[in-house]
Amino acid sequence: MLLKFDKIIDISMPVSADIPVYKGKPEKRPRLYTVSDYNTGHIYESCIDMNLHTGTHMDSPLHMLQGGARMESLRLEDCITSCRVLDLTNVVDKITADDLADKDIRENEFILLKTRNSYEDILEKDFVFIEKSAAALLAEKKIKGVGIDALGIEREQPGHESHKLLFGAGAIILEGLRLKDADEDEYILLAAPVNIPGAEAAPVRALLLK
Ligand SMILES: [Zn+2]
Repeated sequence: MLLKFDKIIDISMPVSADIPVYKGKPEKRPRLYTVSDYNTGHIYESCIDMNLHTGTHMDSPLHMLQGGARMESLRLEDCITSCRVLDLTNVVDKITADDLADKDIRENEFILLKTRNSYEDILEKDFVFIEKSAAALLAEKKIKGVGIDALGIEREQPGHESHKLLFGAGAIILEGLRLKDADEDEYILLAAPVNIPGAEAAPVRALLLK
């Protein structure tokens, strides 16, 4: 079978020691090092020590809900799916239900929210996030999943209400996307996470096919 796509858009962050991390926390910065090279041995081998919420990654409900599902329970059908990128680059601070009102969001859609986070150097601090009214709307619409170009879907909301509303509705959460190259449109999303049984998150090389 011949698969043909006009375009493959990489919407993930390269993982290097100096990438932006959530709130700039030093412990979230990845540490990469070589354990063997051709000066010390006969092969080249590297290691990485990284928080699972660093870089582009998927969260499972366990991240915010005690007893919630772990990474091995996520269905691949939900990670490899059609999706829609919504352009919300006009939003200044946080995405509210009003910002999504005219986007005609339908049940079982996977929605990717493109914001000014993809253009400006604000990922470590005042990034645009999903405010709880928008999370409630997405949960009510019974979406399959939501992705955003921030390292967390929310900040400064006591009780992490946006995470809980979305996990409570069975939605998948994809964080750390880079959406500069993706216009508002429909795509195929490839976002299978590394299977780390027991974990609450895992790295993803997220791609859009057009
Ligand atoms: Zn996360």
